[in-house]
Amino acid sequence: MDSLIAYCGLDCAECPARIALIDDDDALRAKTAESWTKAFGFQFSKEMINCTGCKEPGVKIGHCAECGLRACGQAKGVADCGACADYSGCAKIKAFIAQAPEVKANLERARA
Ligand code: SF4
Ligand code: SF4
Repeated sequence: MDSLIAYCGLDCAECPARIALIDDDDALRAKTAESWTKAFGFQFSKEMINCTGCKEPGVKIGHCAECGLRACGQAKGVADCGACADYSGCAKIKAFIAQAPEVKANLERARA
């Protein structure tokens, strides 16, 4: 579902923070807090693992609420970075794709 592709290209439909909120799944919150703490070097508590999704109103995980790609996409009024006229030359999205290569296909699906 394209509306759940975040500005950065992450698929919020597959994100455990969104799934845990929708299902009110405390075990998934705890498991995700533990794995994200290891992966990102930031102490996540299970109470933090709640998110409605990048483009949906409501609660966000801290890093997604503060995301520069999200703020820029909102300011430009684009569906996501892949729909932005500056996509090909944008250093910010290039840097994120280098960190999370899986987002590239989501961002470029509509560009072909
Ligand atoms: S915006 Fe929320 S649902 Fe989407 S990737 Fe970020 S934490 Fe997950
Ligand atoms: S300028 Fe870059 S960060 Fe901003 S919307 Fe376009 S591609 Fe995304």
